[in-house]
Order: sequence, then C-alpha cells, then structure tokens
Amino acid sequence: MIVCDLCGQSKDCLQKEIAGKEYDICFECWTLLAEKLKGKGRAKNREAIFLHPRPIRERDEEPEPHPGEPPKIQGTDRVH
Ligand SMILES: [Zn+2]
Repeated sequence: MIVCDLCGQSKDCLQKEIAGKEYDICFECWTLLAEKLKGKGRAKNREAIFLHPRPIRERDEEPEPHPGEPPKIQGTDRVH
C-alpha cells in the first residue's frame, strides 16, 4: 500500500507525473484530478479561440510605397 499524496490515505496508488514531479495518487483522486484538468483544458481552448479572432498579418500585407518613384510634389499647378 502507498499513501496517496492527495488524500493521505493508504491505497493502491498510481504513480503520476504532474508538472515534472512524481505523485502517488489513488484512483479516486486521479479521477477527480483528471476531471479538473479536462475542465481546464476546455477553458483554455475557448480562450485560444478568442485570442485568434483574425490573422495578425493584416498590417504586414499593406502595399508599401515604391522606393524608386520620385516623391509627389503637391500644388505644382500653382507655379504659373
Ligand atoms: Zn487519494
């Protein structure tokens, strides 16, 4: 028997790695944890959709002024 890291009861525990650490977690606690993680995952997915409403590239694709063309001078018709 191994003591569960979550509920502290001596049960048959599963060894699970969470965030780089190993835990002994009984089946009941693991089920609860898995449900919580599932819920988090869903929330994150929803966030991700809001974070990418449209491509960010839009501004990069604006036509740039041609560097070879001379700058337009305004009001030349008023010289005469
Ligand atoms: Zn437990």
